Amino acid sequence: MAENATHNGTATNGSGQPHRTAPARNGKAYGFVDHTFDVVVVGAGGAGLRATLGAAQAGLKTACITKVFPTRSHTVAAQGGVAASLGNMGKDDWRWHMYDTVKGSDWLGDQDAIEYLVRNAPQAVYELEHFGVPFSRTEDGRIYQRPFGGMTTEFGQGPAAQRTCAAADRTGHAILHTLYGQSLRHATEFYIEYFAIDLIMDEEGACRGVVALCLDDGTIHRFRAKKTILATGGYGRAYFSATSAHTCTGDGGGMVLRAGLPLQDMEFVQFHPTGIYGAGCLITEGARGEGGYLTNSEGERFMERYAPSAKDLASRDVVSRSMTMEIREGRGVGKDGDHIFLHLDHLDPAVLHERLPGISESARIFAGVDVTKEPIPVLPTVHYNMGGIPTNFHGEVLTKKDGDPDAVVPGLMAVGEAGCVSVHGANRLGSNSLIDLVVFGRAAALRCAETVSAGESQPDLPAGAGDNALARLDRFRYADGSTPTAQLRDNMQRTMQSNCAVFRTGEILEEGHHKIHDVWKASDDIRVTDRSLIWNTDLVETMEYDNLIAQAVVTMDSARNRTESRGAHAREDFPDRDDANWMKHTLSFCDTVGKTVTLEDRPVHTYTLSNQIEYIEPKKRVY
Ligand SMILES: Cc1cc2nc3c(=O)[nH]c(=O)nc-3n(C[C@H](O)[C@H](O)[C@H](O)COP(=O)(O)OP(=O)(O)OC[C@H]3O[C@@H](n4cnc5c(N)ncnc54)[C@H](O)[C@@H]3O)c2cc1C
Repeated sequence: MAENATHNGTATNGSGQPHRTAPARNGKAYGFVDHTFDVVVVGAGGAGLRATLGAAQAGLKTACITKVFPTRSHTVAAQGGVAASLGNMGKDDWRWHMYDTVKGSDWLGDQDAIEYLVRNAPQAVYELEHFGVPFSRTEDGRIYQRPFGGMTTEFGQGPAAQRTCAAADRTGHAILHTLYGQSLRHATEFYIEYFAIDLIMDEEGACRGVVALCLDDGTIHRFRAKKTILATGGYGRAYFSATSAHTCTGDGGGMVLRAGLPLQDMEFVQFHPTGIYGAGCLITEGARGEGGYLTNSEGERFMERYAPSAKDLASRDVVSRSMTMEIREGRGVGKDGDHIFLHLDHLDPAVLHERLPGISESARIFAGVDVTKEPIPVLPTVHYNMGGIPTNFHGEVLTKKDGDPDAVVPGLMAVGEAGCVSVHGANRLGSNSLIDLVVFGRAAALRCAETVSAGESQPDLPAGAGDNALARLDRFRYADGSTPTAQLRDNMQRTMQSNCAVFRTGEILEEGHHKIHDVWKASDDIRVTDRSLIWNTDLVETMEYDNLIAQAVVTMDSARNRTESRGAHAREDFPDRDDANWMKHTLSFCDTVGKTVTLEDRPVHTYTLSNQIEYIEPKKRVY
């Protein structure tokens, strides 16, 4: 499995030179198992697998490191579908998809990247079909497409588009299993249940690889690579109630911040309108796409008031905000009046059975509801992070350097929810994430193929490469403060939920800023009780918490800084979008040792990729 592997305190640095490693506090030094690859992908969700597959197909020696078994990645939970203008169920055009995505992003998306996404989307879906994804079918055998929020025709002038390609309500499951199967056909090396700790950066600021802990035997692995691709998913678990898996802890974002690189647009956190009340599990927007609707305690279909034309299929930020309004104004349902009803009980049970079997089951298990007879209790729940690691449309990570806001970080790439390319801008449209995963996962692999030759020799790693990761591991392994990780995590999640959710004011965010910085500072007093390296979940959860808290802090501070309302960031004290001052990306840097945040900005790309479509000018939002 491993080349250059040595144990017991020394490791080679690729040239046979012994590498001194940081001593552990129990007196024994840690050793590295060394590996060299052309490309190392961290993450085996839809984005990571598509990048892995592409790099391997290009003949590059490729490794994929993942902390959970690939098919357990959060992508497996995606229900509704994947957007592409196939036009199987009515006329469609990639330009209309582009218009909707730009509008959905509230003009914060980079239009060159959006053009790349929507133009490549149909091909990417056909590719998935040929790989073996079992899409639902129309009568005449074509891929079934359902309507989704914010997807329209004729540049917003025509009726709703049926653009979301679905495999019943298990689209992510189908895609993930298919991509894993395809990856296994190629000579990819999977490192399963390996936890990536930190990046290896050299003095010039280039990424040279990554260090990971093998969870089941405690060995520590140093991966040297020409390209390291972060595909570690979102950080939904910074919040108390999230539809995402407990593993969505933004580890890639944490690594990037520690490397002194920025995250982008972190204030934009999407709340999905229909998380099951109490449990947080998702009821797909496809449920409203199939005809479901929301009601308040007066039985009123209130979305007709807030969004007269799109109604229940208005974009997610609008529906979430409207639901929160209803509850705040005393029209919530339930004994505490703190949630809303979603009705599917008027739909034909045969349609529910065929098109939405998974959510019927979730509603039964998590809300005790028979969807054919009763409404489902729902509440807006954290669902997606628009913000992440800034990249260009090739997946190359960007930073600000010598006045260049788009300076490429050599050797480092990011794709999927961990990245911010930025096609979703201030708000993502439903079904635009799965297509983002496969289009940009493929784009990153193509870039690797263009810039790396298979087996190309790599310089030795710099002296001390990986010591940062060892020091981090050791610090937490022997952390003997007085506050357990679980308590700090709970404080963080509750602060984010109450002070950085759907409704935001200067006062709430100012309070949140102080509270979340207090939690961050209190993290120095963290306590880990298990000192072993074998399946030490206490230690892994602590490293995950450390990744989450840094991102929680920059999310709060970016939200406090942006004094306008745009997409998912709605400020009651600044209700309008302010293009004159705020049509720009937020870049957040953080000193994770000194525990300070620095905010900067980066221009939005107000140009397209080709002459096939012109820049779409900002418009006032009308629903
Ligand atoms: C319930 C739900 C339903 C959704 N439905 C839809 C939908 O219908 N349509 C749509 O377009 N979008 C949907 N989304 C959004 C979409 O599914 C996600 O944004 C997307 O799947 C994220 O994919 P990813 O590949 O970036 O990351 P993930 O699928 O989250 O995978 C992350 C990978 O990184 C690995 N990893 C993380 N940290 C480490 C580490 N430290 N070391 C090693 N490995 C690590 C994990 O093991 C995992 O393999 C949904 C999301 C949720 C939560």
